[in-house]
Amino acid sequence: MSSKSIRHQILMDLAGEAMSPPEKLQRVEFGENTFNDRVMREKLPKDVYKKLIKTIQAGEKLDLGIANAVAHAMKEWAISKGVTHFTHWFQPQTGLTAEKHDSFYELETDGQVIERFKGDQLVQGEPDASSFPSGGMRTTFEARGYTMWDPSSPAFIIDGPNGGGILCVPSVFISYTGEALDKKTPLLRSMEAINRAALRALRLFGNKTANRVVPTVGTEQEYFLIDKRFFNLRPDLRISGRTLIGAEPPKGQQLEDHYFGTIKERVLAFMQDAEHELYRLGVPAKTRHNEVAPHQYEIAPIFAELNVGADRNQLIMEVLKKVANRHGLALLLHEKPFKGINGSGKHNNWSIADSEGNNLLDPGKTPEENLQFLVFLVSVLRAVYNYGDLLRASIASASNDHRLGANEAPPAIMSVFLGERLTEILDDIKAGKEIKRTEEFIIDLGISKLPSILRDNTDRNRTSPFAFTGNRFEFRALGSSASISMANTMLSAAVADSIDIILNDIQSELEKGKEFKAAVLNALRKHIIETEPIRFEGNNYSKEWEEEAERRGLPNIKRTGYALSSFIDPKNVAMLERQKVFYKEELDARYHTKLEQYVKTLDIEVDTLCDIVRTQILPAAIQYQTELATALKESHAVAAIVNDLDLKPVSQTLKNVNTAIKKLSERCQKLCELLKEGLAIEDVEKQARFFSDHVVDQIEAVREPADELESILPDNLWPLPKYSEMLFIL
Ligand code: ADP
Ligand code: MG
Repeated sequence: MSSKSIRHQILMDLAGEAMSPPEKLQRVEFGENTFNDRVMREKLPKDVYKKLIKTIQAGEKLDLGIANAVAHAMKEWAISKGVTHFTHWFQPQTGLTAEKHDSFYELETDGQVIERFKGDQLVQGEPDASSFPSGGMRTTFEARGYTMWDPSSPAFIIDGPNGGGILCVPSVFISYTGEALDKKTPLLRSMEAINRAALRALRLFGNKTANRVVPTVGTEQEYFLIDKRFFNLRPDLRISGRTLIGAEPPKGQQLEDHYFGTIKERVLAFMQDAEHELYRLGVPAKTRHNEVAPHQYEIAPIFAELNVGADRNQLIMEVLKKVANRHGLALLLHEKPFKGINGSGKHNNWSIADSEGNNLLDPGKTPEENLQFLVFLVSVLRAVYNYGDLLRASIASASNDHRLGANEAPPAIMSVFLGERLTEILDDIKAGKEIKRTEEFIIDLGISKLPSILRDNTDRNRTSPFAFTGNRFEFRALGSSASISMANTMLSAAVADSIDIILNDIQSELEKGKEFKAAVLNALRKHIIETEPIRFEGNNYSKEWEEEAERRGLPNIKRTGYALSSFIDPKNVAMLERQKVFYKEELDARYHTKLEQYVKTLDIEVDTLCDIVRTQILPAAIQYQTELATALKESHAVAAIVNDLDLKPVSQTLKNVNTAIKKLSERCQKLCELLKEGLAIEDVEKQARFFSDHVVDQIEAVREPADELESILPDNLWPLPKYSEMLFIL
C-alpha cells in the first residue's frame, strides 16, 4: 500500500471510528499505590514509624537499625498488592529515570524459594551504572556508583501490564566517594541550602518556632497529542521527537479557539485515565486544559516540596506517555514538535515555605512580616541578577533552543517581572534617601499596604521568563521534556546564597548601630539598586527588549553550545561550592555530559533528516518530476492539434520542482559534510559550538526546499502525514 493510501485509510478510520466508550473508571483511593504516611502508620511498629518520620522531616539518612523493619513492612504491603519486583528509581543525568528490576525471590540453601526484601536492599542498591553518562567523573574518581533510598519521597508501585507490579524506591545515585552522579543529590543539597539560609532569616525576624524551610514547586506540564498511527508513519517524530520537515498548514486552520476550548472526548478519556493513574500514585493532578496550539494540552498538579515535586513531574511524564499509548495516541513532550506552531514548556512555580505552613513569598499582614517578605523577594531578584546565566544554562538543550532563541515563549534573556505595585514599592525604597522620607514613613506608606495590593494583583505578564504571581515565582523557560531538577537546584542554591549575603548586609548595618527596620531597608536598598537591570515589565518578545537588554548588559545566549559554559564559570562554581550544592568536579562532569548530549541530539537529527530526504522525499519528487516531463512531452503532440492548449502551468511546475530538488539535494549534501566535519572535532566544547554555529541552521536550510516540495507535489505522492492531518483531527 502506498503511503498516501495508508494515510487515507487512517483518516477514513478516524472519521468513521465510533469510539468504543472507554471502560468506566473504578473509584480509587488517592495514593493507594504509595507507601504513604497512612500505610506506614498502619504497617510499622510504633517506634520504627516515629524514627522514620523524624528522619523524613529532618531530611536525614535512614538509620540502618530500623531499615530491616521498614523493608519488611514495605515488602508485605507491596506483595499484598501483587508486586513481584522492586527497583531503586533514580534520575541519572540523561534527564530520564532509570530502573533495574529485581524480584523479591531468593533461593534458600535448601533450594526453597522465598520472598525477601532486606533493609540493606531497601537502603542501598548497585545498578550496573557503567553506561550512564557521568561526564568522565567515574573514571576521575575510579568509583562505581550506588543508589540510596531518599526516604522523603514515598515509595510507590507501578502496575505491570499483566498485573505483577514493581515497587519503586525513589533514590539518589552517588559514587563511592560521595560525588553526585544524578540530578537528585544536588537537588536535595540545594534544599538544605535554602533551609539553612532561610531559617537564619526567620530567626533574625524573631521567629523561634519554625524548624525547617523548604522550597515548594508546582509544574504546569505542556504536551501535544496526535494519533499514534500518524506518529508511526513519521520517522522524524519517532526518532528525534520533532518533525524535521513539514509545511505549515494553510492559514485559517490555526484558529485561536483551541485555548481553554472544550476538550475533545477522545482526549478527555485519555486525561481522565491518566489522572486516575496519577491519583493512585499520590500525584494530585489538579488542572487540565487545552493550550494555545492545536492538539496542545496542559496538566498541573498541586505543588509539593521540591524533591517530591520533581519526582512527581517525572511520574507525570511517564504516566502520560504510557496511558496515551493505551489510547492509540502519541504523547509528544518535545519543546518544538511542529514548526510554526507554539512549542511546549513547563512553567515552574517556585516558592519557599516554613514548617508551620507559611508561604514565605506571601506578603504578610504586618509591616514586620512585609519586611521579611521583602528580604526573600529581593533575594530572588539578586539570585536571578547574579546567576541568570546559570539559570539559562540549567534549562539549555537542543530542543529548548527552538523556544528560547525564537520569537515565542520566554526568550533566552533572563529577566524578572514583578508587577506594577511591587515595582512601585521597590522604587519607593530605592528613592527613600533622595526624597528624604523617614524610614517609618516608607514603611507606613509602602509596605503595610502590600497584602491587599498584591492579592488584587492580577496583573500578569505572559511574556516574562520569570514572573512574580502574587505569592510565588513562575520560572517559565523550562523545557517540556526536561527534568525540573537542574533548574530548581540552581535557583534554590542562588536564592540561598543571596539570602546569606543580604542577611550579612543587614547584620553589618545593625553593627553600625542602625535600628532594625532602618538596617533592613538600607541593606535592601543597596540590592534593589544593584539588581534593577534584571527587572522588566514590558513585552519580552519584542526586538526593543533585546536591544534594551544588551544595553543593560544582560546575557542573551541563544544556543546551547554556548549557554552551557556557565556551569563552569568561576563565579558560579564559587557560589555552588559555597552553598555545598555542587563541587567543581561535579560541575565539570555535568558540563561535559550536557555538551555530549547536545551534539548527540543534533547528530541524530541530521541522520534522520538526511535519511528521510534521500529515501522518501527525493524519490517522490523525482517521480513527479518524471511525470511532469512525460506529460509535457506528450502535451506537445496534443498542442499541435488542439488550439490554445496552455502548457505554461506544466512547465512552470516542472521548473519549480526542478529547482526545489536541486536545492534539497545540494543542501542535504552540505549538511552531511558539516556533520562529518563536526564529528571529527575532538574537543567536545569546540564541537558543540561548531554544531551551534553551523549544523543547527543547515538543518533548517534543508527543511525549506523539502517543505516547498510538500506544497507542490500531488497529495497522493507525498510520503509523510501532513500537519493538516496530524494536528486537526482527533
Ligand atoms: P496558572 O496557569 O494561572 O499559572 P495553574 O493553576 O495552572 O496556574 O498552576 C499553578 C501552579 O502553581 C500549580 O501547580 C500550583 O499548585 C502551583 N503553586 C501554587 N502555589 C504555590 C507555591 N506556594 N509554591 C509552589 N507552587 C505553587
Ligand atoms: Mg496554567
